[in-house]
Amino acid sequence: MITLALSKGRIFDETLPMLAAAGVRIAEDPEKSRKLILPTSRADLRVVLVRASDVPTYVQYGGADLGVAGHDVLLEHGGEGLYQPVDLRIARCRMSVAAPDDFDYAGAARHGSRIRVATKYTTVARRHFADKGVHVDLVKLYGSMELAPLTGLADAIVDLVSTGATLKANHLREVESIMDISARLVVNQAALKLKREPLRALIDAFAGAVEQAA
Ligand code: ATP
Ligand code: MG
Repeated sequence: MITLALSKGRIFDETLPMLAAAGVRIAEDPEKSRKLILPTSRADLRVVLVRASDVPTYVQYGGADLGVAGHDVLLEHGGEGLYQPVDLRIARCRMSVAAPDDFDYAGAARHGSRIRVATKYTTVARRHFADKGVHVDLVKLYGSMELAPLTGLADAIVDLVSTGATLKANHLREVESIMDISARLVVNQAALKLKREPLRALIDAFAGAVEQAA
């Protein structure tokens, strides 16, 4: 049996057509079912549904043989024990710094100055501001980062941006783009040795689906 870890929402929705290209169908709609383990049209392949940020952990410890995780999530996890063979180019967005419309970010984020930043992505944020030579006080949050500058919790945030609509609705603007983000296929390194043939075939099928979509 091969176990593929996916998270509900955009990762699941955008992985589905790639699986279809590999001849794999999933009968159940995860939004309608409460099941956490979904069978597929292939008797030897099942999908487990986990939190987006838990995908690398499941694959690292062998709870799943492979999975699909955002590069943002992988950077925070660290990628230990994970083989990352394919950039799937799905669930694309950017990791950016955002600040209130009226905040002088350029003035506040000068070399040697100090800034307070709220984020779920502390690893990426710490590295980004260190590279700029800006002292940063990081406030770790788990959601709704946009609220932090509006309540005085932070000067700015580091968050994922796609359209920018959420920022705009909260009177924030993207002041700096840190990196482009997309989802990657991740594979457990021990499983790759034990189940080499079927996993190699799946990895190749995903890589083929990426080529087709390009
Ligand atoms: P959870 O909802 O369980 O806290 P999450 O918010 O990270 O986790 P999703 O919203 O499903 O889960 O996002 C999954 C992945 O989709 C992210 O890790 C990221 O790589 C990608 N993504 C693409 N665009 C966006 C966006 N605008 N906001 C958030 N994530 C995005
Ligand atoms: Mg979310």
